[in-house]
Amino acid sequence: MTTPKHTRPLDPHASFAVDPVTGCHVWQRARNKDGYGMFRQGKRLVYAHTYFWTLANGPVPAGKQLDHKHCQNRACCRADHLEPVTQLVNLRRGRGTKLTPFEALLILRTKGHETARTVAARFGISSGAVYDIWHGRTWADVAAVAP
Ligand SMILES: [Zn+2]
Repeated sequence: MTTPKHTRPLDPHASFAVDPVTGCHVWQRARNKDGYGMFRQGKRLVYAHTYFWTLANGPVPAGKQLDHKHCQNRACCRADHLEPVTQLVNLRRGRGTKLTPFEALLILRTKGHETARTVAARFGISSGAVYDIWHGRTWADVAAVAP
């Protein structure tokens, strides 16, 4: 007698396919609505990419989340394709380089207090983009209404 398929525990190590071009370990099982591979471990739902990164590196540092820095492939669960970053940087990378007006305002307020490099790293943009905001070359409309 065999165990019914749906109650058999899933082996995450047998649940991805290697992409021959990118080297990505592409999750072949369930994905959530955002495209991240997931599986059930006991009663917990586990992200496949988190599982493999944690296996290789230990717990994800507090306040950080894993970014697919090399491949931007959310279904990829290869540990060395992942990097812990702050949530803000991850959001930025995920949707391109567009800032929200609120973020532009925050950046504007760092002028004279922090270096462009520091600010750029925090918001995931270039130092040049920070200077542009500081000097009103971009987001001048935000500067105009800034309190
Ligand atoms: Zn990958």
